Amino acid sequence: MFGRLRPLFGGGGRLLAVVAVAAAVALGVGAGRGSASGGVLKVRLGGDAVSTRVVVDLDRSVKGQIVGADPRRVVLSLPGVDAPGALQGRGTGLVSAWSVERAGGAARINLSLSRDAVVKRRFLLPPGDGVDVYRYVVDLEARPGSQPRVAAAAPATVQTRASAVAADPRPRSTRRVVVIDPGHGGKDPGAHGAAAREKDVTLAAARELKVRLERTGRYRVVMTRESDVYIPLETRVAQARRAEAELFISIHADAGDSASLRGASVYTLSEQGSDRAARHVLNGENWVRDVNLPGRDASVNRILLDLTQRATRNRSAAFARVLLERIGDRTALLQRSHRDAGFVVLLAPDVPAVLLEMGFLTNPDDERALNDPKRRARLMDGVGDAIDAYFEHESRYAAVSSGQ
Ligand SMILES: [Zn+2]
Repeated sequence: MFGRLRPLFGGGGRLLAVVAVAAAVALGVGAGRGSASGGVLKVRLGGDAVSTRVVVDLDRSVKGQIVGADPRRVVLSLPGVDAPGALQGRGTGLVSAWSVERAGGAARINLSLSRDAVVKRRFLLPPGDGVDVYRYVVDLEARPGSQPRVAAAAPATVQTRASAVAADPRPRSTRRVVVIDPGHGGKDPGAHGAAAREKDVTLAAARELKVRLERTGRYRVVMTRESDVYIPLETRVAQARRAEAELFISIHADAGDSASLRGASVYTLSEQGSDRAARHVLNGENWVRDVNLPGRDASVNRILLDLTQRATRNRSAAFARVLLERIGDRTALLQRSHRDAGFVVLLAPDVPAVLLEMGFLTNPDDERALNDPKRRARLMDGVGDAIDAYFEHESRYAAVSSGQ
């Protein structure tokens, strides 16, 4: 159980403030603006000399292509898109200047680089969640060891950052990083059944899931706790972010007022929860400080964070759907089994996260099943299947148009 009745975010006033900031940002940041009849509406940039995000607002869907990339520039072609007027502007971070031109029935976005960089990812975000335009996003990352070009007149602070990152050329494992979070522990036992305690059942289940995942050789599994210890919720989120988790699954067991209540359910982060996460990030709080939004311009950060959160929410919801599918034939499901919540452990803005309530310890059938190693392992096998399926089809879930 997860104290779901406790309101986790402040009153409407603070939410309104966040919305107002976001609206002001949307109006103020566009460096270039085209007519509404054109294809390219606006170009926005954010980030610093290590990673920079370029967002192109469009009135239509498009399959973009990188048609030119050398150490000095990246050219993105958007076929079938108009480029009204002369859109151009000064850059930020890795981009020293940008321009949009029409070439052969396509809009071309020219990005001059202040430093040798590569396109790390790019994707199209369709309208939704209150935004009525398409957004083509290009994430640039500095090539390790590259130096800012002197001509770019990078400020001293940027130089310092760049050299700090260049000293850390981390080889990335090809294994996907999954963080399993056994709920509760130590002084916090969680829910009680007739015999079982939630903190024991969740740890046992987490261990079974870890074994199941590691057997495939495809995952690096990190547990937020390996024994009966108390770990604050914020620490669990920080652990997931430090591990660069690609998926976070928090495991719990429920308690109900009525013994007849039973079944599993899955939670993902709600819209309000995202706003709460945004406040933590923008306040620079410790457990979410190193979100990949290094620019010092808070208003641009808000936009970038917003995009990150949308993508993360999409992925979390996609995983929740697959998870319910895969465990649905192994256990009973609670009615309305996918719910939105503002649980603290789901708050990392860039880690897809779900919270699984495996069943009700207050229901005799569920408790028996959760206390039975065989049946519990069968359930965790279903969770493992869902994780396999999620990573096999991950790109489809994230609204990614095409990779490099
Ligand atoms: Zn719980």
